[in-house]
Order: sequence, then structure tokens, then C-alpha cells
Amino acid sequence: MGIPYGRQSIDDDDIAAVVDVLHGDWLTIGPRVAEFESEIARVAGSSGAVAVSSGTAALHCAYAGIGIGPGDEVITTPLTFVATAATAMAQGARIVFADITPDTGTLDPAAAAAALTPRTRVIAGVDYAGHPIDARALGDVAHGAGAVLLEDAAHSIGSTFEGIPVGSLADVTTFSFFPTKNMTSGEGGAVVAKDAAVLDRIRTFRSQGMVRDPALLRYPDEGPWHQEVHSIGLNYRLPDVLCALGQSQLARLDRFKAKRAAIHARYNRELGGIDGLTLPTTRAGVDPMWHLYPIRVPAPERKRIFTELRAAGVLVQVNYLPVYWHPVFEDLGYRRGMCPVAETYYQEEISLPMYADLSEHDQDRVIEELQRALRV
Ligand SMILES: *Cc1c(COP(=O)(O)O)cnc(C)c1O
Repeated sequence: MGIPYGRQSIDDDDIAAVVDVLHGDWLTIGPRVAEFESEIARVAGSSGAVAVSSGTAALHCAYAGIGIGPGDEVITTPLTFVATAATAMAQGARIVFADITPDTGTLDPAAAAAALTPRTRVIAGVDYAGHPIDARALGDVAHGAGAVLLEDAAHSIGSTFEGIPVGSLADVTTFSFFPTKNMTSGEGGAVVAKDAAVLDRIRTFRSQGMVRDPALLRYPDEGPWHQEVHSIGLNYRLPDVLCALGQSQLARLDRFKAKRAAIHARYNRELGGIDGLTLPTTRAGVDPMWHLYPIRVPAPERKRIFTELRAAGVLVQVNYLPVYWHPVFEDLGYRRGMCPVAETYYQEEISLPMYADLSEHDQDRVIEELQRALRV
């Protein structure tokens, strides 16, 4: 078997936690949901969290909770998974892409500022590879325009900036618990928000828009069974079975972070100083939970190096095709060349294997095969 670019780390405690829920009364909408949510809120330094069925659902809930709709514009980075943009479009928004900074691969505050229009409602940054966005500068840009700063933290639960955890940096933050991410619930995600009203709307949107609080009902005398819908929602709930796995994983987050940091440091040490190879940057004050180890090689060599590594069983990945290069965006009129820094980043990028259970032996193999492919 090859060495994957990312994978989950499952232990006996994780398995026992899931089995325990399976023996109980609540497979979903039970007590594990609120427990998991309060534990996420603690890690994120926020007053509350909403657990949802994926990182994509988290983004959709975030845009819905902020109140994004037709006529609104969302500024985001092209160097991300398509869901960051797609979920805003599902709400009817128009996406405006702004370029990245070449060191961290995250949204450039100056480019975001230049993309503002009177219709801008959200600036959505992505903590690429686990490195937090420049939330202070992006927050200033967003708030100066009356917009909300959304942080897609699918890569970065556990990262901090000047000791402040991701989850407390932006107005709204979303997480993903897909198996390749920093921790997993199989599928899953979560949203945290500083504004309690936004979080309430997210909670309602997650459960088909259903309102149960008697104080909020339009027809409170209908009967004790009564619940009603005031705005359309979907079913984005995370079942107790998966919340239990998430809880068990969250308890090991610090250990996962230390392992990922050690792998990152070892790559830095072994791969430093190689001509034509650019390693990931860590900005001052940032302590990332590294989800990816993104290297950059000369663009004309990227496909060959990638193919040779894959053939050698090092199952590297590329993160990401610039979002507007997807045909669906091309068909809407988005054109190549719009964000040249992100396009160059993409053309040079390869993600090396990075996960908590990556052994030193396997990491040595990755390093050797990369050196072979680089002809050093
Ligand atoms: C993984 C990911 C998502 C989507 O998360 P899922 O849980 O797979 O739906 C969104 N944004 C980014 C940046 C991601 O890496």
C-alpha cells in the first residue's frame, strides 16, 4: 500500500465511544450533540458551537446564518476547496475572487480590499494548510465595509494566532471533520460565531428551519405538538454516533498537533536548502496545526514530480485547482488570469503526506522519493 497524503488516526477509545452510543437510546438528536458542541466551543474559545454533517454543511449554514442571499457578494480565495464558494452560490450570492499572498497561500487583505463593492456582505478566508488567515487585517477590511469575516477553518482546528485559537479570530468560523483533516467524525463539521443571533439562525437552518421555542411561535396555542417553520432550512445534523467519535478525537487534539508539528519540523530540516524547492512559511505569532505540508516546485516540473512520486507509492495530492478554473465557473464567465498569484501557487504545489500516524520510516521514504524526483 502507498503512503497517503492524509488519513485518520483511530484508536480503541474512539471505537469504544462509538459502540457505547450504538448501545444507547439516541443514535441522533441525543445528548452527545450538545456535549460535542460545548467541547468544540471550548477549543475554539467561543461561547457556542453548532455541530453539522460536514464542512460543506458548516459553510452553507454559516452563509445562511449570516443572511446571504441573491444580490449579495462574497469575496473569497481561489486557493481552496470548491465548497467555500459553492455554498455561498447555493444561497444565491455572487462570488468575487481575490488573490492570495504567496508565502502562506491565504487571502491577501489588500486584494480583498480592492475587490469590495457596495454589495459585499462577506469576506471568506481559508486557513490554507492550517496556517491562519491574517484575521486582523481582513477583519479591518470587512468591518470597514460593513461586511462579515468568515474563516473556513477546515484545515486549522487547533491553530492559534498570538495565543488566540482559530474560532475566536473571525466573526464566523467553520470546521470540517472529514477523515483527512486534523481530527475526524467520519463526516462532520461545526460552526462557531461571535454573534449569538447568527448562531441561533444556524441552529435553526441545520434542522429544517423548525422553531420549537414557545416564545417564538406565531401560533403558540395550536397545541403541545406544535412546531413551525419561519424560514427554509435543511437537515444538516450530525448524529450522536459521529459526535461520540468527534468527542473522542477532540480529546487527543493536542497530541495530534504535536505529531503534525514534529512531521512538519522534520520535513523542514530534511528538505531545507534544496534549489528550486519552496517550503511552507510560518508567520510570526502563528502556531499552526499543520493539515498539509505544501511544497512548491518549478511549474514545468510539477506534473513529472507528482507522477513519479505517485508511481513510487507516495500518494501526494495537489491543493487546489483555482476554484474559478472549474468548468462550472468558466461557464459563468470567470476567466483564467484573474488571480495570478494563486494560479502560480497551484501550478507549483504538491502536498506531501502529513498525518498524525505517519511513521518516521514512511516519512523517510517520502523524503527519499522526493529527492530522487528532484534529482538532488
Ligand atoms: C474539506 C474542506 C471543506 C469541506 O469539508 P467537507 O467536510 O469535506 O464537506 C471546505 N473547505 C476546505 C478548505 C476544505 O479543505
